[in-house]
Amino acid sequence: MTTTDTHCPYCALQCAMRLTVDDGGVTVEPRDFPTNLGGLCQKGWTSASLLTAPDRLTSPLVRDASGELVPTTWDAAYDVIVEAITRVQRESGKDAVAVFGGGGLTNEKAYALGKFARVGLGTAMIDYNGRFCMSSAAAAGTRAFGLDRGLPFPLADLGGADAVLLAGSNLAETMPPSVQHLAGVRSRGGLIVIDPRRTPTAQLTQDGGGIHLQALPGTDIVVLLGILHCVIAGAAVDETYIAERVNGWDAVKRSATQWWPEAVERATGVPAAQIRSAATLLAQASPLRGGAGAYVLTGRGAEQHAHGTDTVTAAINLALALGLPGTVGSGYGCVTGQGNGQGGREHGQKADQLPGYRKIVDPAARQHVAAVWGVDADDIPGPGVPAVELLSRLAEPGGPRVLMVHGANPVVSAPDASEVRRRMAALDLLVVCDFVPSETTHLADVVLPVTQWAEESGTMTSLEGRVLRRHKAVDAPEGVRSELTILHDLAQRLGSKATFDTDPSTVMDELARASAGGVADYGGVSHERLDSGEAIYWPCPDSESAGTPRLFLDRFAHDDGRAVMVDVRPAPVADDLRSEAPIYLVTGRLLQHYQSGAQTRRVRELVKAQPSAFVQIHPITAQRLGIDEGERVRVESARGVTVAPARLSDEVRRDTVFMPFHYSGGACVNDVTNPATDPISGMPEFKVCAVSLSRVDEA
Ligand code: SF4
Repeated sequence: MTTTDTHCPYCALQCAMRLTVDDGGVTVEPRDFPTNLGGLCQKGWTSASLLTAPDRLTSPLVRDASGELVPTTWDAAYDVIVEAITRVQRESGKDAVAVFGGGGLTNEKAYALGKFARVGLGTAMIDYNGRFCMSSAAAAGTRAFGLDRGLPFPLADLGGADAVLLAGSNLAETMPPSVQHLAGVRSRGGLIVIDPRRTPTAQLTQDGGGIHLQALPGTDIVVLLGILHCVIAGAAVDETYIAERVNGWDAVKRSATQWWPEAVERATGVPAAQIRSAATLLAQASPLRGGAGAYVLTGRGAEQHAHGTDTVTAAINLALALGLPGTVGSGYGCVTGQGNGQGGREHGQKADQLPGYRKIVDPAARQHVAAVWGVDADDIPGPGVPAVELLSRLAEPGGPRVLMVHGANPVVSAPDASEVRRRMAALDLLVVCDFVPSETTHLADVVLPVTQWAEESGTMTSLEGRVLRRHKAVDAPEGVRSELTILHDLAQRLGSKATFDTDPSTVMDELARASAGGVADYGGVSHERLDSGEAIYWPCPDSESAGTPRLFLDRFAHDDGRAVMVDVRPAPVADDLRSEAPIYLVTGRLLQHYQSGAQTRRVRELVKAQPSAFVQIHPITAQRLGIDEGERVRVESARGVTVAPARLSDEVRRDTVFMPFHYSGGACVNDVTNPATDPISGMPEFKVCAVSLSRVDEA
């Protein structure tokens, strides 16, 4: 029997767990840890099932002349890939090969993938599914503070606050153990939730005097501006803090004066009295008024919009007006979603960034990274394009003809997914690395089977910026390789000038050198230090540094040390209501499933609990449309159609329906969602689009 301490394979809470391996298989038990406090959700408890998935990929697959994916050798699979890449790049240029990465990859893999794209393939065309996750928060955080770290403070700090505002975060369902940190604020009646649905998180406001602001989809920014208006009217602005630490206040203050609560009520459906109460709760909790502290947190509900960066900016403006960021016991943060949503975006998977959050257009950054990679700065391509644009260029004239997908399932998770499927099917070559079949592997020309969480060593960075060790507990099945090995092998075959190590610890050492001096500085992070039990939060510039659990206490990361407020205004949703599409659709996660569901839809207990998609409809809306509980409903937008049974509930607004995004086939909600993107972050507008509903027998 062996025991191994590691972390959950799924979400950004990265709950600590112990894996026991004996003749009976692998058993999961929770470990006490500051984020999960000994808790696991149902996904974590059942995560060992992934290790014994009956359809586990164990051999490379290549599509043969008859169109079937058939097992082959690694050498044969590599030959197919290298021949296609070489031919296509010779015919159409380096950018004819694209890479699509994942926010669940370890830090080491994410780093190696960014390096492989730039100097193994020489392409600028790399982006990743984290673009769909928290890019708006990243853009807004960088604009306001000069750097972006999901939570710039330990999650446990929430426990002491008198007020917490959650804008578009359903953490009671997406990461249940985290709710333990809200026990204090709930008991003090200070929890405020903005959400068009009465989610399990919104329901937490009911038992302690908190407030649920059930806003019209797409209007979170108006609610936040309204609360700021009331904070100003109530003389709760921390003028001293602003004078000492913030630029841009005058324009934001002027702009906020128009958002008096009754105007907000008309625009959002949230009663004016609730807007005033939310402002009062936050003001009373603020350090200015002698409260224990207040936090403003955003999640995907606020961020996944074509103007998500501005919505997050409105949340940050509110927090800055109250004097919260960079104050012990208070702050602004973003609740990250994917397992390595934080680390996955720091090491070079983003189209415009090099390791350490360095800007790819910055000559000094290029020079630094090139020296670590052993290439010339001119060998590193310039910026690529964000994920939605990259996917929209596939198989277009002048666009990528080969795509390599690592740790993602974009034909389910991308907006307007049926269009993505059509483009992928038209590629010269689609290569997918995964450990189980997915809707994207089904389209692939080459599938490469890779190691998964408990079969590999590496690191992840949690939602609070803490670097965590992922330890190997079991051997991978024969025939499976790590992405680090695959990238090494392909780079060698492609004649790359740069070398690619296969040992995760050595890759981390290289990542540390590449990121050193950057914003996300891992210069002092090593597997050895983490294994000794040190709790390291980046930035950690050198081996003497203890890391930085709380950011901005003395200064923000802009050159002058000050935060920046930006005057933001509401904008119409990209796909507004019209007579042929009179209802808003919002999407989200269920407790039992994760992301596209490629992993959790093969775990028996999770499937039993949530076997299929559904359309959550208010009973009055359903009655008006003649739809009964359980009847199959056709949901149609300008992009396409999806079909699922009705689930009637008054937890959703009458003008809104909800569907989970974990399902595929005819019930893939992203066949309907809008690929319109935020001009700053590239985030698509997953969280609101206009649809029509009809019973399937009427369609
Ligand atoms: Fe924890 Fe998230 Fe894993 Fe659930 S899915 S056990 S909340 S890390």
